[in-house]
Amino acid sequence: MVPSASLVTYVGVLKDALGLKDWRIDLSDEPADDGNLASIYCWPGQRRATLHLGVDFDDEAPDEKRHTLVHELLHPHLHEMQACVDRSLQLVGSQAAHVLTAEHRNFLEHGVDAIAAAIAPLLPEVPDGTADSCTAR
Ligand SMILES: [Zn+2]
Repeated sequence: MVPSASLVTYVGVLKDALGLKDWRIDLSDEPADDGNLASIYCWPGQRRATLHLGVDFDDEAPDEKRHTLVHELLHPHLHEMQACVDRSLQLVGSQAAHVLTAEHRNFLEHGVDAIAAAIAPLLPEVPDGTADSCTAR
């Protein structure tokens, strides 16, 4: 899947609106893992992230697409906190680290998703012509 030019432009608009003007966000042509609508990888030590869209992303309604993209674009703001938690948990026993990592990620995802739900409606809508945001390679 190759992201369309209109989707790349739209992600750039959302990125800037969400305070990530100094970040580079690349849209991958590789799909998100595990059936997720999208995922984002923040490169350690860089203001750079790679956004992956799921194979079902194009099937979503425009509002859900916007919500999903806003959700993913909030993660870079929390990336350093996540990395700090991950490093800290390496200092505790593996069983505790496993439980705490899972709990932390759950709470983080819930928080990110709640914030995305609150602010996505305030941001520009998915533009017409972005309905098919990806084209087959
Ligand atoms: Zn998330």
